[in-house]
Amino acid sequence: MENSRIKAIEIATNRNGSSLPSPTFEKVSAIFGDMTFNRESMQQFISTEAHRKVLNAIEKAEKIDRKSADEIASAMKSWAMSKGATHYTHWFQPLTGSSAEKHDSFFTLDGDGKAVEFFDGSSLIQQEPDASSFPSGGIRNTFEARGYTAWDPTSPAFIIEKTLCIPTIFVSYTGEALDYKAPLLKALHFLDTTATEVAQLFDADVKWVKATLGIEQEYFLIDEALFHARPDLSLTGRTLFGHASAKDQQLEDNYFGSIPERVVNYMKDVEYNAWLLGIPLRTRHNEVAPNQFECAPLFEEINLAIDHNVLLMDLMSKIARRHHFRVLLHEKPYSGINGSGKHNNFSLMTDKGDNLLSPGKTPESNLKFLTFFLNIIEAVNTKNDLLRASIASASNDLRLGGNEAPPAIMSVFIGEQLTHILNAIEKSKESILGNKSTRKHFSLDISHIPEILLDNTDRNRTSPFAFTGNKFEFRAVGSSANSAAPMIALVTMLGSQLADFKVEFEKLISRNNTKEDAISKMLRKYIVSTKKVRFDGNNYSQEWLEEANRRGLSNISSTPDALKVFVDKEVVKMYEAANVLSHRELEARMEIKLENYSKKIQIESRTIGDLAINHILPVAIRYQNILIENVKGLQSILPNENHNDYAVVQIQNIKDISEHITQIRYLVNDMIEARKVANRVADTMENARLYCTTVLPYFDKIRSHTDSLELMVDDVLWPLPKYRELLFIN
Ligand code: ADP
Ligand code: MG
Repeated sequence: MENSRIKAIEIATNRNGSSLPSPTFEKVSAIFGDMTFNRESMQQFISTEAHRKVLNAIEKAEKIDRKSADEIASAMKSWAMSKGATHYTHWFQPLTGSSAEKHDSFFTLDGDGKAVEFFDGSSLIQQEPDASSFPSGGIRNTFEARGYTAWDPTSPAFIIEKTLCIPTIFVSYTGEALDYKAPLLKALHFLDTTATEVAQLFDADVKWVKATLGIEQEYFLIDEALFHARPDLSLTGRTLFGHASAKDQQLEDNYFGSIPERVVNYMKDVEYNAWLLGIPLRTRHNEVAPNQFECAPLFEEINLAIDHNVLLMDLMSKIARRHHFRVLLHEKPYSGINGSGKHNNFSLMTDKGDNLLSPGKTPESNLKFLTFFLNIIEAVNTKNDLLRASIASASNDLRLGGNEAPPAIMSVFIGEQLTHILNAIEKSKESILGNKSTRKHFSLDISHIPEILLDNTDRNRTSPFAFTGNKFEFRAVGSSANSAAPMIALVTMLGSQLADFKVEFEKLISRNNTKEDAISKMLRKYIVSTKKVRFDGNNYSQEWLEEANRRGLSNISSTPDALKVFVDKEVVKMYEAANVLSHRELEARMEIKLENYSKKIQIESRTIGDLAINHILPVAIRYQNILIENVKGLQSILPNENHNDYAVVQIQNIKDISEHITQIRYLVNDMIEARKVANRVADTMENARLYCTTVLPYFDKIRSHTDSLELMVDDVLWPLPKYRELLFIN
């Protein structure tokens, strides 16, 4: 009988890594954005008037009128057809899965039945895809299946596989958001309003503030033959069984090591296609675990950065197939091995190109820096549980606190120098800018920030939310997540915090404080209050868990518990005041996430049952029979001796295998019973909680028996590719 594992190993190891030619081009600048309807292609295809309208929409959030939309649509069509496109689609980001599209041809029949290519303003601006199969959390009953997609002119249309893709938001017939982009755009508008008001305290000419985001994407690669020989990987994205490999990442010899040729070819292909789509990919390297890699683009305006990341994940998966790879975006594909994250580097930028999180050279610019810096930390302090909920998923639960990822405690790292400066400010009674006598002292201290930070190379890699010189890096985001989920939360939290800051500032001004005094008082208050979340030590240590507990910080380890905060009174109030999400929308989002959680655990649980009973037990029994034959044979040639003298190991193995088989059978049965109980509970929160507390705990118990069997059974019989093969063949 053929062993699927041995066959897969043979195919994977004989794969010719360089068979696929890598793309040739002169230089990146010559091809960058070639497949996007960007400023240059617009200039070429539309009138100056319509072009200006699009630019105003991007820069000033102004609406585009119908006449211009018609012109833009017709130009987009001409441009897309000149690039070989035949179809168009509204491209959107539903609440599960990465992106969705429904392709329509440009082709249609005119009144006389003649074939023509047609695409007008209304097809550009709005579509009505049948929305009934997208999750809505009860917002849209199936009899009212209509949902609308509406054009987002701030993110350029692009062409993939001969289809013109138009970035859109996705809302229900009654106007509720069914996607990530709609609330993100609202949140960004809100932040722009409040941050601009605060920025104007320092520079009255500031016109707008935008959030910027640079997303580092971690992932694993695996040969497609090995992938298919692991039903757990193909069905759930992670390995549910597998004993640790003798060698994995303990020698720390992988990070920044040389990248295998076959992988480099894949990366080049991804980069080439990303550049065509205007995604500014810049960095690529090995990650800590074997067969783990990272790529990162330059930062962009946040809405664009997120669209680009969603597109990039899609590209990575598509292109992997061309190279006979599969890309694993799961947060924890291998137990005991580093998981994958998606570091979200976040900052704020004004229309003048000023990074508000960059320490300045003068005391005044540093006061501005400290204001935004402390407001962000205070937002994380007061809306700590929301930040945790924003990154919650069944797969990220496996990674958070997994010893090589930040724990589920949302603390902030700022480093020794900034801590020192905050301490000094706290102790002083003066305005932060100081009066004449102290001014020198503080200006000296603060104006040294840039130099000191440049030296700050020993950055704390264990913090979930770290200040890294001129931006915050949110590291707890999972590798498969849509970054919009955490960014909607962070942006709204910050916007709301800045609004509160402004209100209190005005109060102090009305009580005859000078501007500097008012700001100083507020910042001093935040310096004290944020002590609760500021932590520069080792986030992976046991001491921190205890310390965080003493400080009253939450450590919420499961998704169902984390999601509760979506309907917390304060959180709902904040989102509604910011006009980002309504109570109903928040409830719906929580429902969708809970349902998704239960489904994921259910699929994993079923896969475990199937693998254990139908793949592993038969092989264990086959091997046990070989041992039994062996003992019988020995008995027949040594009839007069005590078999304890010659077959003791075989007999013990036979007994052990029986014990594992029995345990696996019982545990799988019990797990199925637990699932049945959970399935009878209609309440989504209770259902998810039961999956978490009564089904999930069986996974490790069953695994410990199957992994023990892996160590006992003859290697050539074992049916599932082992960790050493999954991790080291490339
Ligand atoms: P790391 O040391 O964390 O691997 P990298 O330099 O590789 O850092 O990546 C950091 C990311 O942060 C990049 O995507 C970069 O463009 C982004 N970044 C840099 N400055 C800003 C900023 N002002 N706002 C947002 N992102 C930024
Ligand atoms: Mg990073």
